[in-house]
Amino acid sequence: MSNSLNNYYLQTMGIDTWIVREANQNNELPINSLTKLEQEVASCTRCPLHKTRSQTVFSRGNNQAKLMIIGEAPGFFEDKQGLPFVGKAGALLNQMMKSIGFGEEDIYIANVLKCRPPNNRDPQVEEISQCSSFLEQQIELIAPDLILALGRFAGQFLLKKQIALNQLRNSIYQFGQTPFMVSYHPAYLLRNPIDKKKAYADLLEVKKFLLAKAC
Ligand code: SF4
Repeated sequence: MSNSLNNYYLQTMGIDTWIVREANQNNELPINSLTKLEQEVASCTRCPLHKTRSQTVFSRGNNQAKLMIIGEAPGFFEDKQGLPFVGKAGALLNQMMKSIGFGEEDIYIANVLKCRPPNNRDPQVEEISQCSSFLEQQIELIAPDLILALGRFAGQFLLKKQIALNQLRNSIYQFGQTPFMVSYHPAYLLRNPIDKKKAYADLLEVKKFLLAKAC
């Protein structure tokens, strides 16, 4: 676990100790591979976003989680902290997950792009194309039971189709061997709180799917 992630927990959860889980022999290779991948991302200069980033943003959460959440790209606070979904959108995401009984240990979070687009503009096709192999490798290494894509860009990236978000919701798709669902991005919900009920309904479907998978 990176120091930045550790610090994030300490800062946001108000804990002053950290309990290290015993290593799972079966997961040694993915953990090592994830570390290598994170290092590769940290030095990436494939697209112009490397010139304006403060740092790359790889992931937060549990790399053995059954649920992987994928967002669009780092914003201002993510770029500063080096972690995805922090700031107000991150706080809302944490609340949303808590509403279905999921904590930090139950999710693994990453973005389609690992570097912040200037002024939080939309990701460009070429940037997504240059960065996509990193996320694809992350998905393969995490091997979640389910991916929840948050927002239009993440949903369209996984589906490889340009479809409006409202049409992406309420279905289960496949990304390779991994099923995925699509719901609203927390940043959108901050601007459009009326859709929080629909987002909650989506999360209940996520929970239902994972419970059924566990049986
Ligand atoms: Fe590399 Fe992705 Fe960052 Fe572009 S956004 S520089 S491809 S890590």
